[in-house]
Amino acid sequence: MTSSDRPKPANFIEEIVEEHLRTGKYGGRVHTRFPPEPNGYLHIGHAKAICIDFGIAAKYGGCCNLRFDDTNPVREEQEYIDSIREDIRWLGFEWGDREYYASDYYEQLYDWAVMLIRKGKAYVDDLSAEQIREHRGTLRSPGKESPYRNRSVEENLDLFERMRRGEFPDGSKVLRAKIDMAAGNINLRDPVMYRILRATHHRTGDAWCIYPTYDWAHGQSDSIETITHSLCSLEFEDHRPLYDWFLNELGVHHPQQIEFARLNLSYTVLSKRKLLKLVEEGHISGWDDPRMPTLAAMRRRGYTPEAIRNFCDGIGVAKADSVIDVAKLEHHVREDLNRRAPRVMAVLRPLKVVIDNYPEGKTEELDAVNNPEDPGSGTRKVPFSRVLYIEEDDFREEPPIKYFRLAPGREVRLRYAYFVKCIGVTKDDAGRITELRCTYDPATRGGDAPDGRRVKATLHWVSAPHAVSAAVRLYDRLFTKPDPDEVEDEGKDFRANLDPHSLEVLTGCRCEPGLNGAQPGGHYQFERLGYFCADVDCRPGKLVFNRTVSLRDTWAKIERRHVQHDAGA
Ligand code: ATP
Ligand code: MG
Repeated sequence: MTSSDRPKPANFIEEIVEEHLRTGKYGGRVHTRFPPEPNGYLHIGHAKAICIDFGIAAKYGGCCNLRFDDTNPVREEQEYIDSIREDIRWLGFEWGDREYYASDYYEQLYDWAVMLIRKGKAYVDDLSAEQIREHRGTLRSPGKESPYRNRSVEENLDLFERMRRGEFPDGSKVLRAKIDMAAGNINLRDPVMYRILRATHHRTGDAWCIYPTYDWAHGQSDSIETITHSLCSLEFEDHRPLYDWFLNELGVHHPQQIEFARLNLSYTVLSKRKLLKLVEEGHISGWDDPRMPTLAAMRRRGYTPEAIRNFCDGIGVAKADSVIDVAKLEHHVREDLNRRAPRVMAVLRPLKVVIDNYPEGKTEELDAVNNPEDPGSGTRKVPFSRVLYIEEDDFREEPPIKYFRLAPGREVRLRYAYFVKCIGVTKDDAGRITELRCTYDPATRGGDAPDGRRVKATLHWVSAPHAVSAAVRLYDRLFTKPDPDEVEDEGKDFRANLDPHSLEVLTGCRCEPGLNGAQPGGHYQFERLGYFCADVDCRPGKLVFNRTVSLRDTWAKIERRHVQHDAGA
């Protein structure tokens, strides 16, 4: 692609990349990577990083590697690697045969560490982790040099080799870069490069008992893979001088690290440590519980990859952290599902209706539109009969003002069917309504009155003898506060803000018969109720649906208000 037929740079990262393409810094190449640590499932924040990493490579005709940053054997597992692969593919990105592991580079990293020791730029330190922390100093005060800092090159080479051979106990020694204990940037105060740790690694097994730190492994892995642009989130900005120092000292290929703002979402935690806590303590059913912000959970809930990608595009790429309203994500989900989800009728809390003047035993097949947004999707037949279910909520014995749905003596439309009028209510001994008695007007078939008479409400319904049963899970936000980390009492944490009512399971739902064919992952709009997705456990005769999102779009309303406001101003 030439620069003239390319769209304008969409953000500051693309501006930097284009500058490099102009100056030929990397020979016109663009090569990025997405570097997850396999210690948890990917979440919506990672989706942002994935869209940026893979998106920029694609835009400039380059490629993007998947690299597992597996330098901490204690917290990493194969299950996470498998889920990460699945989730990236599901989002719509491909890395081909470019799947790499930092652990593949352990030998090279070791050799490079020896090289730095030879240059007098790294040393073995016997201070404990605690002492190293104390020696590090603070933002205001310089650090203190370790008494082992001036060991000879020979002694360091010998000790480092014996560290690798396993001659010393865990935690008794580390290898540190020899930079500057008075550096303003604390990351440059002789950072640790290797620690001794006897733990079985999920890929290298027990071959190693020393493991590289993130800082030592990351930039060098980028370099080995000849990455050009190492895109990461803002918390690594202070690590960039160290990233550059290592590569300069080694004199090897030197990618450009560029930082962007992390995604933060209201009502959501996006730290793997906290998400793991929710899983381990059983606050939710697992990493893919549809209330989680993981991609696996969003998939199960019915979010689509297109909606997530549109959301990531929509929020853009900024240099400063901010919190995005979770309603914005839900808005993109609705927009996408509105286009693709077939409409069906399902009654979540059924109230029985008997049409007194409809012949017993008769069934009519009425035409219903599958998706008004997609004329190509056609119509289907839904059965109508004498006994129906409507939503409990769609009837009030004593309707308040502005309640236009069904009430005694009132007429409403049943979607795609007839006008019906409530003429009576049957109650049990406890005074609870058990069924409504109605009449229908045969002249209104299809939902219109030839005499032009109007009704103020249209209700969804299902025919009782034809309906199929389903369990429906209604999900709400997992946390009660926009900032889940905001707690009143000291000693409490985000778990104090979990909403105990974030899941409601309805078991007696009744659906139109066609839903018996719902396949796991299938999307539907239940008319008037919201978007729902057939759960992974959904099968004929045992239907289970997850509510993806309700129909009410608070974000669109906010947007509209802004537009009106802007227009009025
Ligand atoms: P933790 O939750 O422990 O902070 P992490 O989010 O850093 O872990 P990694 O697996 O190291 O998890 O992340 C892989 C990549 O995803 C990194 O490049 C990181 O910058 C990016 N990333 C992680 N969280 C977000 C987020 N909320 N927004 C944007 N990018 C993110
Ligand atoms: Mg990380």
